[in-house]
Amino acid sequence: MRGSFMFSFKGFKNKWKKAKSWCKKHKGVVVAGVVVLSISIIGLEQFVYDKNEPKEVKYEEFMDDLKAGDIDTLYYNPGDEYMRFTLFNDETREMTKKEREDYKYKKDEWRETLYPSGEDFRENMLKYGVNLVVKSFEPKAAAIIGSIFSIALPFIIIIAAMKAIMGGMAKTEKTEKQVDVKTKFSDVIGHDEVIEDLKFIVSLMQDTSRLKKFNMEVPRGMLFSGEPGTGKTLLAKAIAGESGVPFLYLNGSSCIEMYAGLGAKRVRDLFKEAKKCSPCIVFIDEIDAIGMNRTGNGSFSENVQTLNALLQEMDGFDTESGIFVIGATNNADTLDKALVRAGRFDRQVVISPPKDWTVRKEIFEHYLQGVSSTADLDLVSKQCMGFTGADINAVVNEAKLIASMGEADSVTTENIEEAIDKRIFKGNRSKRDKKSRENMLVAYHEAGHAIVTYLCGKPIARATIVSTTSGVGGFVMQTDEDKQFMTKTDLESQLMICYGGRCSERIKFTDVSTGASNDITQATNIIEAYVEKYGFNSEFGMLDLGVVQGTIQLSSEKLVKLFSDMAKEYERKTFELLSENYYLVERLAQELLDKETLSSEAITEIIKDAKENKESMEVVNEKFDDFVEV
Ligand code: ADP
Ligand code: ZN
Repeated sequence: MRGSFMFSFKGFKNKWKKAKSWCKKHKGVVVAGVVVLSISIIGLEQFVYDKNEPKEVKYEEFMDDLKAGDIDTLYYNPGDEYMRFTLFNDETREMTKKEREDYKYKKDEWRETLYPSGEDFRENMLKYGVNLVVKSFEPKAAAIIGSIFSIALPFIIIIAAMKAIMGGMAKTEKTEKQVDVKTKFSDVIGHDEVIEDLKFIVSLMQDTSRLKKFNMEVPRGMLFSGEPGTGKTLLAKAIAGESGVPFLYLNGSSCIEMYAGLGAKRVRDLFKEAKKCSPCIVFIDEIDAIGMNRTGNGSFSENVQTLNALLQEMDGFDTESGIFVIGATNNADTLDKALVRAGRFDRQVVISPPKDWTVRKEIFEHYLQGVSSTADLDLVSKQCMGFTGADINAVVNEAKLIASMGEADSVTTENIEEAIDKRIFKGNRSKRDKKSRENMLVAYHEAGHAIVTYLCGKPIARATIVSTTSGVGGFVMQTDEDKQFMTKTDLESQLMICYGGRCSERIKFTDVSTGASNDITQATNIIEAYVEKYGFNSEFGMLDLGVVQGTIQLSSEKLVKLFSDMAKEYERKTFELLSENYYLVERLAQELLDKETLSSEAITEIIKDAKENKESMEVVNEKFDDFVEV
């Protein structure tokens, strides 16, 4: 017996399953069916209802019949608009109430009138002795189907919209999820030490059986930290490309969206997919968006849910499964400790921008491969201190664009320099009237910077008075010096270079301009670091004032006095140095007014020439204090 019940139940279950999958496949047919069925039920009922339609009478007429005692039974329903009643005929008038219950009135004996809803309706009617029955004659099915639809419709629309949105998002995620990448380690420049480490992981991905053989505990994950554009994604892709395994991508910030639970679902889906296509590389970009410290300010329940899902998933596969997770962040300090403990992202690698100009040159060469170029790559590489691989890639693309707009056959040094300027100053070059007073001011200001730079023994990459749309009037660019550390003198020189622009304005025009505001900010930063961080100032000695201020409140008056004394001291030094050599500034400023931009060699040449012809030049030798009162 039991067996047969089980069997038949199973049969029912199977049928139900089949029906369900059929419905899923033929959604359109199902929807159309439901609609047609509803319409026909409503139609049929309406048809029947119309057939039974009683004669409608005015309420007054109803009252007359009522008063005359002609009404047998009154059917009403408090929710309805109309009520129905039957009128006595010769037969029923003689019957008892009981007998009349089985009697069927003919159609034309039925009447209908408006129902005067009111609390005392029932009592009033009973007074006349009519037979009162509560009953509705309005089309039921239509009413029910109608109300179901009117209640369900908003939900249906909302659910459909949500599904469409989420489905859409899931789809876009999917497309970037699994890719077979062709990136190789040779495409990644300047991270040789890291790559050495990663080769080991590649070898494991290629042969997961090795893990078992050595009974090793392999890291499940690795964390790349470093500023954007340094090549973290590129490295992760290269691991996948080298080992020939799929690359699964998820962006952490896409997991902290508006729908509760969606982030956690994304993480679970990702690992589900990873298990399907292992061995593979799972890459989670901006992992700090998910893995933020749970006690930190940014913690909220959605985030915690997603983080927990990630922790569970990372513990949920064994090391032989061939899933290697790489997280990338530019904010490793904010990560939750649980995420970086052993067995999860226990290996951390810092991915930095190119460490010197030679690495930048390699990246330039890499992206200029196959492009005809006459550019002096040593020169341009020295001009973009601090640029990341992504910056250089963008500069090369921009330079190609500039070259092609000028219809040139090859990319020149000038094209790349223009692209570098655009990147640094975030604007296009804009022309100024050559003879304007403004142009004069900028020329003498920049010449001042350049000559102080020269006098401090620092190499200059180029100087220009071409302004940019972002509001930069002109600039003097220094060349990267290949130095890991700066000396005390280096810092002092930088400070004087900052003051060179304003000092030159003073010497030449007496009045000064707002053009030095950026220089002042930069100088203030140098002074602050000089005193607070590097212990170069004898007043405080070798103290990290940042640490000191964490415990005791230093008098800010004393600090400001110290800072401004230093600013004044170096402004005076700069002023004196410049006025002794102002003939150089004069000469360079005139050349700048003439040519607008001067290269490193041109500047060297001009200075050399000016020095040789010093006698013929007008020499200004101003005293700093003469101007202090201005
Ligand atoms: P991150 O993930 O660190 O933000 P990406 O790896 O996405 O940076 O880098 C963006 C692009 O910049 C890369 O696709 C690549 O074209 C270029 N790039 C960045 N770093 C390097 C590098 N070290 N070598 C070559 N190209 C690089
Ligand atoms: Zn300046």
